[in-house]
Amino acid sequence: MNTFSVRILGDPVLRQQAKIIENIDGDLARLADAMIVAMHEAHGAGLAAPQVGVLKRMYTYDVGDGPHTLINPEIVESSGECIYSEGCLSLPGLAVDILRPEIVTVRGVDLDGNEVIFEGGDFMGRLIQHEIDHLDGVLLLDRLDPDERRAALKEFHRIAQAGGVQSTPSGVTEF
Ligand code: ZN
Repeated sequence: MNTFSVRILGDPVLRQQAKIIENIDGDLARLADAMIVAMHEAHGAGLAAPQVGVLKRMYTYDVGDGPHTLINPEIVESSGECIYSEGCLSLPGLAVDILRPEIVTVRGVDLDGNEVIFEGGDFMGRLIQHEIDHLDGVLLLDRLDPDERRAALKEFHRIAQAGGVQSTPSGVTEF
C-alpha cells in the first residue's frame, strides 16, 4: 500500500478543484485505505483526497466509530449558523474561529456504490463542510477576513520556523 503524507499549505494541489469520481473500483478502495492510514497517523478526524495529493472528490473520516469514506459528496441542505474553532491537518497547529451553517445534509456514495444521505450537526456538520471545502481547493484561511487571515498566516509561519507543531491546540480537532 502506498503511504501518504499530508500536504501542507504552500502545496499547489491544495488549491485545485478535485474531479468527480466515475468508477468505484478496487483502486479507489485501496486509495481509501491508504487515506485512512494517513488520517489516523496524523490524528485527524477527517481527510480529503487532495490533502494527500489526489484530485478526486472523496474524503475519509472517523469520529470514533471506525473509518468511513464518502465519494462525490455534496451538501443538499443547510441551516442555522455557528462559530467553531476549527483546525486543519494542512495548516498544522492553527486553530481559527470559523462561521458556517450549523446543520447540513450531505449526499454522496459509499465504497459499495450505494447512495448515502445523512444530516450532520455540530462536529459532523463541521467535518462535512471542511472536507468539501478541500475538494474545492478552499482552505480555512479563505474563510477569514483580511486581518484574521494575516494573523493566522503569521502564526502558521511562526510555528513552521519553530520547527513545526509539537502538539495540536488543546480541544481542537484537525480535519
Ligand atoms: Zn483541512
